Amino acid sequence: MSQFDLIVKGGRVATAADVMHCDIGIKDGRVVSLAESLEGAERVIDASGSTVTPGGVDGHCHLDQPSMDGTVCADDFTSGTRSAAAGGTTTVIPFALQIRGHSLKEAVEDYHRRSDGKALIDYAFHLIVTDATAQVCGQELPALLQAGYSSFKIYMTYDDMMLADGQILDVLSVARRHRGMVMIHAEGNECIAWLTDKLEQAGKTAPRYHATSRPQPVEREATHRAITLAELTDVPLLIVHVSAREAVQEIRRAQSRGLKIYGETCPQYLFLTEADLDKPGFEGAKCICSPPPRDKENQQVIWDGLVNGTFQLLSSDHSPSRYDDPRGKMVGGTEASFRTVPNGIPGIETRLPLMFSEGVGKGRIDLQTFVALTSTNAARMYGLYPRKGTIAVGSDADIVIWDDTREVTISNDMLHHNVDYTPYEGMHITGWPRIVLCRGEAVFEDGEVKGREGYGQFLACDPPEKAIPLGRSVTDFQPA
Ligand code: MN
Ligand code: MN
Repeated sequence: MSQFDLIVKGGRVATAADVMHCDIGIKDGRVVSLAESLEGAERVIDASGSTVTPGGVDGHCHLDQPSMDGTVCADDFTSGTRSAAAGGTTTVIPFALQIRGHSLKEAVEDYHRRSDGKALIDYAFHLIVTDATAQVCGQELPALLQAGYSSFKIYMTYDDMMLADGQILDVLSVARRHRGMVMIHAEGNECIAWLTDKLEQAGKTAPRYHATSRPQPVEREATHRAITLAELTDVPLLIVHVSAREAVQEIRRAQSRGLKIYGETCPQYLFLTEADLDKPGFEGAKCICSPPPRDKENQQVIWDGLVNGTFQLLSSDHSPSRYDDPRGKMVGGTEASFRTVPNGIPGIETRLPLMFSEGVGKGRIDLQTFVALTSTNAARMYGLYPRKGTIAVGSDADIVIWDDTREVTISNDMLHHNVDYTPYEGMHITGWPRIVLCRGEAVFEDGEVKGREGYGQFLACDPPEKAIPLGRSVTDFQPA
């Protein structure tokens, strides 16, 4: 019997801390040895000339999430994780949504039914709290936070999801007492509703007016208010899907004051602009997401935030709606107001390759930062580290062996999601995963998905780590 099941040989192995040339010995799905040279395995993968990184941890994606507006989430746990695996992601954390008026605990049970036996890669759940009742704040949420669901998202917009400020303070207090990681969607609902009404009254209903209805000040104000609420309750808070300068400035100011404020951004804010919502006909609906993409100058601001440590996370916010589909982007028809178009774009498969090519390949970020943003930090914030998010002795063997020089023109035909478009159609990038291992098993290899439905395991999350690095230019803090 061989000492190892698998050796990944001769690669340039990157973690969030180091880049080293070494062999990786894998046994029973875990990394058991890192050394200059290893021998004795059932299988050896020659990784010479390849970069080797931890599998991606996508801490923000939506799979098989129920909705109440007649639309359907295009990806379930099978198609969504198939697509994730093909793009180098080996752990996803989608959301168990509490429907207002219903129990949070039941939402989690329902989500297990939706995911059981379906995933190709490992997964955990965030919660979404839409109804901060005494029952939820007093019993259900504390119990769930301790039972392996250690993070939850709350909303400041969307009528059927949002919490009022007092309710936000209530749930933040629960997070403080029970060590939850809170994610917040920071856009101000009142302003958006008013602007949307005015735009519709003026007949300005085309997809591009979605961006007009959610301008930067709306995001800035809500970000500031969210930070204030977190400051009052003295609890860490993650501002998700940050799109532009004004919100970035709020986050940086809070971080420089020593507050435990984290930032997440997404590829759509690096590669899309408002102009993508202004395509002919109804095409702009393909890029409707919230907050909306901004402009070139703000893309640079987001890049800067990734470099200087304002952002800890680069997630996909994969939120799949089909375009040419009456249960997708066209739910109201092509003449309908932007208000009716389901928000969100697909991106679970393209996240790592886009960042590898345009971030590392173009010299904007180094490999360690790439790993931190796409894998390690999410694992740490959501209590999965060091099982996930690194290549270390004892960690799960979740590993991407890159084809560093492969030239790819992104097209929807090559992707594995159940969406009929990608916002990145036609983009030229360099590098794509050659082999993706999840717990030592190849789930993607040489252009083919090898993973099988049901292989993916549910992961219970620990409470978030006490000290998550805030990046280079902001002093690490020690929370209370
Ligand atoms: Mn959101
Ligand atoms: Mn989202």
